[in-house]
Amino acid sequence: MQRVLVLDKSKNPLMPCHSARARQLLKQGKAAVFREYPFTIILKERDGGDVQPVSIKIDQGSKTTGISMVADFKGGKRVIWAGELTHRGQQIRDKLLSRRQIRRGRRSRKTRYCPARFLNRRRAEGKLAPSLQSRVENILTWVGRLSRWSPVRSLSMELVRFDTQLMENAEISGVEYQQGELAGYEAREYLLEKWGRHCAYCHATDRPLEIEHIAPKSRGGSNCVSNLTVACHECNQRKGSQTAAEFGHPNIQQQAKQPLKDAAAVNATRWALWRRMNTLGLPLEVGTGGRTKFNRVKQHYPKAHWIDAICVGESGGRVIISPNHAPLQIRATGHQSRQMCRVDKYGFPRTSPKQGRVHFGFQTGDMVKATVTKGVKCGTYIGRVSVRASGFFDITTPTGRTQGISYRYCTPIHNSDGYLYQRGEALSSATTRVAVSSRQDS
Ligand SMILES: [Zn+2]
Repeated sequence: MQRVLVLDKSKNPLMPCHSARARQLLKQGKAAVFREYPFTIILKERDGGDVQPVSIKIDQGSKTTGISMVADFKGGKRVIWAGELTHRGQQIRDKLLSRRQIRRGRRSRKTRYCPARFLNRRRAEGKLAPSLQSRVENILTWVGRLSRWSPVRSLSMELVRFDTQLMENAEISGVEYQQGELAGYEAREYLLEKWGRHCAYCHATDRPLEIEHIAPKSRGGSNCVSNLTVACHECNQRKGSQTAAEFGHPNIQQQAKQPLKDAAAVNATRWALWRRMNTLGLPLEVGTGGRTKFNRVKQHYPKAHWIDAICVGESGGRVIISPNHAPLQIRATGHQSRQMCRVDKYGFPRTSPKQGRVHFGFQTGDMVKATVTKGVKCGTYIGRVSVRASGFFDITTPTGRTQGISYRYCTPIHNSDGYLYQRGEALSSATTRVAVSSRQDS
């Protein structure tokens, strides 16, 4: 169950409470709603109170990042809040592309002279592409928000995919892979990274990969990482007791001899996030991808971004998730459009320049509840509004988009803050995937 964040009279964070308790406080008039997403209440009378330390745990993904809050209780560590943050990488790329094209078009037109600028730019060291930078900023925004509204005392994140130290010099010494030990999981992540996450023989990516001996064990092949590769089940079966060369892939043995560089295990965005998180002044725990998976499989949890976040690092070894815990779905949408007016397909202005962004007290991106009492659109709509100067708004709900709803029917729930929210799907529907996910790779 998702807990409700609580603030005291002077907006200091208190321990998040059960939703039933929050409902009771609101009903008795002892608290008011402070924020809808994440649901936060503010107490009217109390100042201060007992808090248990809460930690924010992050599993950074390329499209979606899991963010979970875990607290220490008497019975052990428990998840108190979870969210899945969807980034807008592709959207940023597309927008920059269209901006570039509009600029290009303007330069070739016969207007005032504007010299083309090129080859005069210098990149700052460690600069990330805008789409990657936004991923880091999104996460930091949410770490900041959550630590403002709950008593956060520590942070954890996944920094590298695997730990070579744990594998004791992987390329030389033997690794008892698949032995269910942490070292086995680290070795597996290492192999996946080294072989590009696809079958070494047929290059298939869409199926579970198995660890495979290049020189088979039956013919004296060792368990050293330099004798291992990843292959799909079919290739593994067909190869049988042949060596890679006999199987028609003589270059595999050569490729396996080259160790993977350490730098390959850390990607630039994770590193950038780590540097920024370090400046927040909270103790920061880092984990490896191998350990996250090890913790998740040991606890028989299904694969989901918010669950991976819980399993990050040493502290993720034993965490209780209550059944039916549904994470908050958060989607980054950005704030406004920079373009002053829409253009037709030839690049000529099609609409009048935009006026203001607030119409009838609403702005695009606000979450509203509209209760339409008459006409064909009769019903209740809860979703994100797109405002129009005419006063007839569009509302996007999880089921679709409805156009032309008058502002008179709308009541604000949550002001636009660059994100779109949806209460997520519960854990119970995902539990059937446990058996599969323990073998598959992320
Ligand atoms: Zn294959």
